[in-house]
Amino acid sequence: MPEEQVFPPLAVADAEGIVDDLERGLEAHYAWSRRFSAMLVCRTRPRQTDLAVDGHARDEFGRWYRDERHDHLKDHPDFPPLGPLHQQLHAEARQLAQMVAKGEKIAPAKYRGYQQTVNRFRKRLTAILDEARELLRFSDPLTGIATRFAMLPQLDQERERVARTGEPSSIGLLDLDRFKEVNDTHGHNAGDTVLHEVAQYLLKNVRRYDQVCRYGGEEFVILLPGTDPRKAKQVLDRLRRGLKRKKIDVGDGEIISVTASFGIASLDPSDPLMASIDHADQAMYEAKQAGRNRVRIWSGDE
Ligand code: GH3
Ligand code: MG
Ligand code: MG
Repeated sequence: MPEEQVFPPLAVADAEGIVDDLERGLEAHYAWSRRFSAMLVCRTRPRQTDLAVDGHARDEFGRWYRDERHDHLKDHPDFPPLGPLHQQLHAEARQLAQMVAKGEKIAPAKYRGYQQTVNRFRKRLTAILDEARELLRFSDPLTGIATRFAMLPQLDQERERVARTGEPSSIGLLDLDRFKEVNDTHGHNAGDTVLHEVAQYLLKNVRRYDQVCRYGGEEFVILLPGTDPRKAKQVLDRLRRGLKRKKIDVGDGEIISVTASFGIASLDPSDPLMASIDHADQAMYEAKQAGRNRVRIWSGDE
């Protein structure tokens, strides 16, 4: 019995490349399709490539499929079948083009068959694209951790739990200190490395039931379920000290370290979720004002 091939799940680091690449492929297909439909409707003279047996290799999509590198796509299990499917589409398109060239009528069933193949082809393409886009909505490719988009439903759920049980819960928000200087001094790539290392540090050092996401550029949100702001301050102070001590290798033999300013607010179910996040943001801003590299609790919670 042939062994079934097992493909690894799509890696978030590849997803960005896949989206860029496939969007070009899809646009290439649409460019051909618009032109071909206009020819069918207006019954203008078909192009040589649409009448040729190897038309599939010479149209916009065919050239994209064959000539580009597809670094991220080539290992995707749905990528190889696109080639034969596109070839089939062209074989059916060629028959229609021949009928137009000869001035023959096209039977509706014939056209429907072609249209069904077009739809199957597009479905295959967009399925890979949707999968990659979905992954990008939930995982941040640079840092490998959850995005804000993935975190918001969890925050909402926790807010409901707090409303139901009356247990406290806290939101921590941290922003790297003088991060622009890291980029300016060591370059953007070094900045990217720092973001990745900080994210992974946070992920590994929060408690098992805490959640971390990259909230924006150099801002991260930490949800601390079942934790009041005072206790959250202890937890985040430990993280803050650990981060300060962490040595980050940004390449070229350069080792740097960064600090962050933290704000904490309780997840108050009588406020909208965004208000609690905003309170944590205000507290973070107070930490910046007070000199950075410190943790502040929102004044309304103290
Ligand atoms: P502060 O202590 O007041 O927060 O100062 P700051 O320099 O950290 O703040 P500012 O808002 O001036 O700069 C944030 C910088 O973060 C600017 C932006 O280029 C950088 N940044 C945001 N996202 C990324 C990213 O994905 N990669 C890199 N390398 N830099 C990023
Ligand atoms: Mg910022
Ligand atoms: Mg900053």
